Amino acid sequence: MGNQRRYWRLMLVGMLALLLTTPLATGTAASDVNGTGKFWPFHRTPVTVSFGDNLSNQWERYFRKALAQWNQSDVVQGKSVRGSTNGAQCNAKNNTVQVCDSTYGTNTGWLGLTSLNYKGNLITSATVEINDSFFNQQQYNDPVARQHTICHEMGHAFGLDHVTYKSCMNPSDTSVFNYDKPGNRDFKTLDQIYSKANQQAAGAAVAGPSGVLELPQAALDPYETVTSQRQPDGTTVVTYVEWAAAAP
Ligand SMILES: [Zn+2]
Repeated sequence: MGNQRRYWRLMLVGMLALLLTTPLATGTAASDVNGTGKFWPFHRTPVTVSFGDNLSNQWERYFRKALAQWNQSDVVQGKSVRGSTNGAQCNAKNNTVQVCDSTYGTNTGWLGLTSLNYKGNLITSATVEINDSFFNQQQYNDPVARQHTICHEMGHAFGLDHVTYKSCMNPSDTSVFNYDKPGNRDFKTLDQIYSKANQQAAGAAVAGPSGVLELPQAALDPYETVTSQRQPDGTTVVTYVEWAAAAP
């Protein structure tokens, strides 16, 4: 597939994701920037986000490094806390991001998966899952690909969306094996997401969309699928799946 076509597919999935996950009324300031339109509740910055560590030892150094990289931000600070779940289940816990790895299987097709639970614009909890079924394979057992993936998923957990510049938030194949840290523009986007304007917008936030959205991988983005689902308790869960590359 040509880069041009790939680019438009990424654009399309991005626009659909915004259309379907952004509240229709007020409180959409975050959608003006390269964020998901979702953010952690805050009164002042930096906002501390707790990352529950359920990772196996092989991931610890990547996790520490990604935390240190994102903590260069002036507005968000990730803090490692004891995990409350296990890799296989990776259950969400309120006010935390639970970070997990396990052999979730290659049939799933994904390297990493982030789920955000939110009410209105406000994230209530998140989970990050890293798929060892791929990282145990020679093709992905690569320090850059590992660092990229955990950096990428943690970026989603802070409220960032995809980008096309050099950054771990770029979901392309090239990026997976080359870009293993945030880009400067990611920090600018975080500044906008965790700004006074968005804090005020959060107060006026309305409930998210209803229904289930499944964007088929083949029809849209070859690397990422975004789904959004309204829960019975009024929260909405949006899921970002980073797919493994097609066979080279
Ligand atoms: Zn992603």
